[in-house]
Amino acid sequence: MSTSNASCRVVVSFDFDAEEVWIGEDPANADRPGTLSQGTYGAKVAVPLVLDVLQRLDLPATFFVPGRVAERYPHRIEEILGSGHEIGHHGYTHTSPSRLSAEAEEAELVRGREILTGLGADVRGYRSPSWDFSPVTLDLLVGHGFTYSSNMMDDIRPYRHPGHDLVELPVHWTLDDAPHFWFDGAAWNKTIRTSAEVRSLWEEEYVGMAAVDGLFMLTMHPQIIGRPGRIQMLESFLTWLRERGARFSTAGAVAEAHR
Ligand SMILES: [Zn+2]
Repeated sequence: MSTSNASCRVVVSFDFDAEEVWIGEDPANADRPGTLSQGTYGAKVAVPLVLDVLQRLDLPATFFVPGRVAERYPHRIEEILGSGHEIGHHGYTHTSPSRLSAEAEEAELVRGREILTGLGADVRGYRSPSWDFSPVTLDLLVGHGFTYSSNMMDDIRPYRHPGHDLVELPVHWTLDDAPHFWFDGAAWNKTIRTSAEVRSLWEEEYVGMAAVDGLFMLTMHPQIIGRPGRIQMLESFLTWLRERGARFSTAGAVAEAHR
């Protein structure tokens, strides 16, 4: 059993969904400016706040971005890249591969990557908009030269997908901001947790991950973690991780090291 002072690898990742997550939830949201404004906040206010925190702490991060978000906010992609962070693929639209035909899924993969690459990104990783795959996703990712995926919950350490030249960087809901903070005004049976509560959960998971030398894959969304109170918690939490010797890398660097 490791001591509680043990450290582990940490990836700070963001799914920069902006409006696309709302349109993906319900295409009719495209005509609901109030609903969409929740996503706009991510691009307009939250990404700059997130980049400021990362710059102050001098930490690398990985941003998974839908192609349509990159088309709408190319300057944000350029700022993310200009700050030295990694950009990964997060669909063209924010549509789960499980809801697409094989042809449509491939078209999303190609188009999304063209847009990100066109803005200067070296796109090697894929995070599906739903953390889920269709029966052909693995083959498509390998066929199109992706080197890693960050979607599965069956492990706590990187592994290679059996039969595929693709590294998996596992995720989990515990380390996602959405289940704790997401509130969309449609269902009122869910409450917003406090930042203190979420930080406590993340600290607990970090200590556990460090004890087993796992990969601490933090998955956040600018529009969610980027509220003013939460962003302060994030900066304080990342500082706490650094003080404990956490080894920060981009997702791409962790995948490369595993290969
Ligand atoms: Zn997303």
